[in-house]
Amino acid sequence: MERKYHMKIAFIGLGNMGGGMAANLVKAGHEVRAFDLSEDALAAAKEAGCGTFGTAKEACAEAEAVVSMLPNGAIVKQVYWDDVIGHAPEGAIMLDCSTIDVATAREVIEVTEAHNYQMVDAPVSGGIAAANGGTLTFMVGGTEEAFKRAEPILNAMGKAVIHAGDAGAGQTAKICNNMLLAITMIGTAEAMKMAEKLGLDPQKFYEISSQSSGYNWSLNAYTPLPGVGVESPADNGYAGGFATPLMVKDLRLAMEAAETADAAVPLGSRAASLYEDFLGAGNEALDFSAIIKTY
Ligand code: NAD
Repeated sequence: MERKYHMKIAFIGLGNMGGGMAANLVKAGHEVRAFDLSEDALAAAKEAGCGTFGTAKEACAEAEAVVSMLPNGAIVKQVYWDDVIGHAPEGAIMLDCSTIDVATAREVIEVTEAHNYQMVDAPVSGGIAAANGGTLTFMVGGTEEAFKRAEPILNAMGKAVIHAGDAGAGQTAKICNNMLLAITMIGTAEAMKMAEKLGLDPQKFYEISSQSSGYNWSLNAYTPLPGVGVESPADNGYAGGFATPLMVKDLRLAMEAAETADAAVPLGSRAASLYEDFLGAGNEALDFSAIIKTY
């Protein structure tokens, strides 16, 4: 039986996040043309119903849209320069969902648009479970027209799609949010441990502060102490959740951006160095809330 497809979408980078995202595009009825350097990732994509290709160039040929989910800005740039620009049909819409630095995101959009494509930066909030479940939040930077074209594609992979502003605004939103998250997690950890050392039951502190002016997401929705507050990675030995290396990656991007924008970030830079130390102490396998163990 012939299947009807909505769009031909090239998908580059089928790792922990991209694998599930590509599978959700297939489920939404799109023809997904997948490429990854890893054979295992390609085999999993094939299993999920994607067409698989030996090069990114071949995956991009005939594509009406290109989605990328890659480790960093240098790789994103290399893939777009070498394999996407000039190989995807003219007029295609491009969506980079990787978390990368704001300057590179702007540069890649500028260059692709100079080659008659349209492009958005569309980083995500939500981890592997949200990627698999199609419940990511996308924060999108680009023109109104590019956003309108990207939105239905993103809707197939997420629960919320927000137009943040011009090119790079998605990455800006992402790193500012995660810098705030790092600060609130450290603040929550300090307050909880200090309360405990002063003889206050941490659960009582949670009950009081989560309903007082100290309430915040790290305390209320992601309580970093086991057996206290809501269920969180702390109750599972700090496994799963948002891994410390990813928090450190986002904080490095935030510090870089703060410097280029001449923004004062005394707490952000302190949080960044505390997380660098925590990672350096061999905690790469732990959720970022495990930083409370250092207090
Ligand atoms: P990952 O390392 O699991 O996947 C990246 C994939 O890209 C790998 O399969 C790798 O083989 C592939 N790749 C690398 N270079 C390539 C190239 N030149 N051509 C084709 N494929 C190439 O990483 P991930 O966890 O899926 O993260 C992807 C992006 O999403 C990162 O930018 C990350 O910061 C961001 N992110 C991750 C999470 C998370 O929880 N994992 C959450 C939010 C955002």
